[in-house]
Amino acid sequence: MSFEYDYLVVGAGLYGAIFAREMTDNGKKVLVIDKRDHIAGNIYTEEVEGINVHKYGAHIFHTNDKRAWEYVGRFAEFNRYTNSPVANYNGELYSLPFNMYTFNKMWGVVTPEEAAAKIEQQRKEAGITEPSNLEEQAISLVGKDIYEKLIKGYTEKQWGRPCTELPSFIIKRLPVRLTFDNNYFNALYQGIPMGGYTKMVDKMLDGIEVRLSTDFLSDRDGFMKLAEKIVYTGPIDQFFDYEFGPLEYRSVRFETEILDKPNFQGNAVVNYTDSKTPFTRIIEHKFFEFGTQEKTVISREYSSAWKLGDEPYYPVNDDKNGQLYARYREKADSLSNVIFGGRLGEYKYYDMDVVVARALDAAASELG
Ligand code: UDP
Repeated sequence: MSFEYDYLVVGAGLYGAIFAREMTDNGKKVLVIDKRDHIAGNIYTEEVEGINVHKYGAHIFHTNDKRAWEYVGRFAEFNRYTNSPVANYNGELYSLPFNMYTFNKMWGVVTPEEAAAKIEQQRKEAGITEPSNLEEQAISLVGKDIYEKLIKGYTEKQWGRPCTELPSFIIKRLPVRLTFDNNYFNALYQGIPMGGYTKMVDKMLDGIEVRLSTDFLSDRDGFMKLAEKIVYTGPIDQFFDYEFGPLEYRSVRFETEILDKPNFQGNAVVNYTDSKTPFTRIIEHKFFEFGTQEKTVISREYSSAWKLGDEPYYPVNDDKNGQLYARYREKADSLSNVIFGGRLGEYKYYDMDVVVARALDAAASELG
């Protein structure tokens, strides 16, 4: 059987665009389709009032992986943005991630020794030796006060369940430092592509055939016949028609507003860490690129349980979903002509740099 294309890439997000670029550069014929009417998947940015708005949530590129950093650098110039979110707990402001500024504001401690002693004291009082869930993990990392003011409310809103029922690895993403360093990420390289992510992905897809507003699942058989191999970056459970039941995701609803003032909150990211405020954070998009526009655009993020028809954002990587994913994975592995990739295709809480690495590796292994 002869095929019109070597590869059909389903999804024009970061994974799909990089895979398509690599295969095209190695002489393969590639078609990229996406059901949305735009490229770039969830890293899509749209210009509003001269500001690049992160339409599907804030994305800050950060990595220790030189290969991934240099790769994205081929398609965009990155600025020097460093993520330093502020936490707002009922009007009290704290520095994030947890560092000496946070500890000073919380306890009045001045030296790293005093801060360490305070954490140790609270850890002892809680009597946790081997943390078995997120709550215990958090208390043993930073103590009860910080857990209650800066972690509990935010995390329970974000994941829709008590911290005692969440896996501890989620919180391990956050650094704890006894230094005055507000850089959220422990990463050698960090920045935002100047001009927005859409422009970067557009450059990745330069010269590659892309069909938008094209839903693979609406004509699966037809599309499967188009190419020798399919790269599927949508949800793996959806590909198999939810045969074993749906995997859980968290979704996010964004309420975006244009404000007639230059500065709303003075920072790109402010987290609302109390439990009463219904949103988890407010993003002020211009500050990702040090914008000086007259107006500003803000997005409030409301976290919600995913249901059919919603955008899936975060895989819920707990045991139950892990087991369900393993069943889908087994089916996926038995299909020799379909590669599953990206956060949804692999059902993993991947950051962008890992997506870059995974796509490059998948392309390299295809090329042999
Ligand atoms: N987190 C928290 N308080 C904060 C920010 C984060 O407790 O102010 C916890 C929360 O459990 C969250 C996790 O840290 O799910 C990871 O946060 P991160 O900012 O890395 O998540 P993302 O930006 O991917 O949504």
